Parts: sequence; structure tokens; C-alpha cells
Amino acid sequence: MMQLHESEHVAMMRESVARFVKKEMPRELAKEWDARNYFPRDVHNKLVELGVMGLTVAEEYGGSGRDITATVAVIEELCTRSLSVGGGYINSACYAGLNLSEVGSEQQKRELLPKVANEGIIFAYGISEPDVGADVASVKSVATRVGDNLIVRGEKRFCSGAAICDYIYTLVRTGPTENHYKNLSLLLIPPNTPGIRLSPQDTMGLKGVGTYDVSFEDVVVPINSVMGGESCLNNGWTQLVGPGLDIEKIEIAAMALGIARAAVEDAWEYSQQRVQFGKQICTIQSIRHMLAEVKTKFEACRLMTYNAASLLDQHKPASVETSMAKLFVCDTAREIVITCQQIMGAYGYVKDFDMERYMRDILIMPILGGSSAIQKNNIVNRLQLPR
Ligand SMILES: Cc1cc2nc3c(=O)[nH]c(=O)nc-3n(C[C@H](O)[C@H](O)[C@H](O)COP(=O)(O)OP(=O)(O)OC[C@H]3O[C@@H](n4cnc5c(N)ncnc54)[C@H](O)[C@@H]3O)c2cc1C
Repeated sequence: MMQLHESEHVAMMRESVARFVKKEMPRELAKEWDARNYFPRDVHNKLVELGVMGLTVAEEYGGSGRDITATVAVIEELCTRSLSVGGGYINSACYAGLNLSEVGSEQQKRELLPKVANEGIIFAYGISEPDVGADVASVKSVATRVGDNLIVRGEKRFCSGAAICDYIYTLVRTGPTENHYKNLSLLLIPPNTPGIRLSPQDTMGLKGVGTYDVSFEDVVVPINSVMGGESCLNNGWTQLVGPGLDIEKIEIAAMALGIARAAVEDAWEYSQQRVQFGKQICTIQSIRHMLAEVKTKFEACRLMTYNAASLLDQHKPASVETSMAKLFVCDTAREIVITCQQIMGAYGYVKDFDMERYMRDILIMPILGGSSAIQKNNIVNRLQLPR
């Protein structure tokens, strides 16, 4: 059933996070975190205290029970102000919490899920490589078994959060390449393991958690570092493209939704303060129409995101809807932010105003987590359009 209205518990959660944003994430700090590419660990820890990390963790492992809609609402609220905090939340509650819940071994769940809920431990995704973007299964990093250990060699690229994480969730080849999608494994590797070297990348936006090249030179990890345990060696592809991937699309849609909402709110406010030709610019018809358009597009984005989240909460098949939401919301949010920047004229282009940051941040959303082109492929393929 499509969720048009927010349930009471999600509305309460949203209220509580909105208060948190106001108190702990004022605009000036958000601006500074972006400028310094800084992850505010103290704010992350306060977010843990708020209890929102446990939204992806079952009660038996110390969480409050898996609630994708509430998780999405938290991401949206945090990302209205700062991707430094919103990104850290995703790396913890989603990358760590959801993946461990979906595909972790019982031992990994018992050990790590309480740490997600109560300490906010962080995973960084080590999937992309210098020669590997959309074609994820072609990773060249390898892990070779020697006794009860694996020896990892290779290069990862664009690993967001590598320097602040507890584990790099690393996709490696663990057997011959005879079949593209076989013989892949996901490993949990602490970033301070000997043989790992991090080199920061200077990105245009998505500042805060930091984005890194990661090299692995004969990194030794125990066999129980395989996500799901030893029996899941060579099972990485199935683990990667399971329900976790559908949820990842919605996480990114939620980030885009937060940025777009902040842009609309700022442009709405600015249009009432800026006076030209002796009147507020919000009285000019073309500005009014732009504001009507962004409000309308935002509402469509909101409905698509929460409809997909609701399907996931009901454990219904949602691959098509999550791809549609990722595609539509990220592309449309980019249009929304560009229009809002136009409304603010020159002031939308200078660093004194947050609109400049929204512009930089929104541009990555249609690229991350499967580009818009890849989502279009997913949609027609899943709907079985003959190729
Ligand atoms: C700031 C930032 C943070 C990131 N964080 C992470 C992270 O934490 N972990 C991680 O693993 N990766 C991360 N990435 C990498 C990101 O997920 C990849 O950029 C993304 O998967 C796309 O890969 P690519 O950019 O190399 O594009 P490519 O795959 O090289 O594609 C280039 C172009 O071709 C198109 N294209 C490719 N294949 C097809 C196809 N089959 N059909 C149609 N069009 C196609 C794409 O849409 C794109 O327009 C990050 C990237 C950035 C910039």
C-alpha cells in the first residue's frame, strides 16, 4: 500500500532529528565541516545517544527493530543540513547495520550489531577500483587463502569514510574469473591493518567522511573476516546484490531529498527577503513559477522515496521501485537545486550561502550507488523488456 501520510512513530522520529539538527548542527558548523572536509565524531556520537543507529538493527541484537522508512526520514533530516553527519549515519546504520543484518554470520551479528546500535561503528564501502566503476563484478583486487588467513592485494578507489571507519567492506576476487559473478567475496578489514595505505581524494562535494584511494599490499586477515563467515567465501556477489542494494538506492535518494528540501526552503525564504525594482522578488511571476515547480517536483520525489521505503519495510519485491526512485529523485533533485540557485541569482553562487554547497553536493547523487543510466538498465531489464 502506498504510504501517503507519515505514521505517528516516523513523524515523532523526524521531529526529534529535526530538533537535533537545529541544536547540534547549526549552519555555521555545517559550513565549517564542509570547508575542512571534517567528520564531527562528537556529533555522530550524540546521534548514537539519540537512538537512531538502532533503526536498522533487530531488537535481539540491541537495536529498535529494522525500520527502513524511519531510517530514510533520519537521512533526509540530517542531509537537509550536512552530508558530513548524514554520510556518517549512512556508513554506520546502513552500510554496517543493514549489511550485517542481511548477510552477516550469527557470530558477526552478535559481536558487531550491538556496536552499531550503541557505538555507531562505521563501515566504508571498498567496491570501486581505478578500472572498476559500474561493472562492479570485474574487481581486480584479490584475496588468496593461506591456511586460516586470507592475503589481500589490490587497489580500491573512492572509498568514502575509509579513514574514519572501523571496517572497510571490501569486494575481492577469491577464485578464478571463469564466471564474472562467481568467486567474489566481501571482507571486513580494519583500516589500520598492516599493509593498508590511504590516500585522500579531493572531491567537489560530499565532504566530511572523506573519500580515499586504498591500497592493500599483502594484507593478512583471518578467514572469519569473510562477511557471513567462512562458508560465504566466493558468495560475495549474491550478498552484494541482495536486498541491501535496493536499500542503498533509497539511502541515496533520501540524501538527495534532504539536499533538495534545504535548497527549496532557502530559495523560498530568500525570494521574500530580496527586493528588486522596489518589490520582493517572490512577487515576480517567473520566480513564483519556479518556486511552484520546485515544490511540486519535491513532492513527487518525496512520494517516490517513501513509497519505495514502505515496500522494503513490507519485505515486498522493490527492485524496480527502488531503481525508479533512485533515478527520478536524484535527477529531479539536481534540477530542483539548480532552479533554486537561479532564484538566488549571484548569491546562489557564492560560498557565503549554503546554496553553493547544495549545488556541489547534489551533483554526485545521480552518479553514486549505480548511475542514472544503470538504473534505467535495471528498470527495463527487471521488467523483462527483450534485449
Ligand atoms: C564522492 C564519491 C564518493 C564515492 N564513494 C564510494 C564508496 O564509498 N565506495 C565505492 O565503492 N565507490 C564509491 N564511489 C564510486 C561510485 O560509486 C562510482 O563513481 C560509480 O559506481 C560509477 O562508476 P564510475 O564513475 O567509474 O563510472 P563508469 O562506470 O566508468 O561509467 C562512466 C559513464 O558511463 C555510463 N555507463 C557505464 N556503464 C554503463 C552501462 N552498462 N549502461 C549505460 N551507461 C553506462 C555511466 O552511467 C557513466 O555515465 C564514489 C564516487 C565519488 C565521486
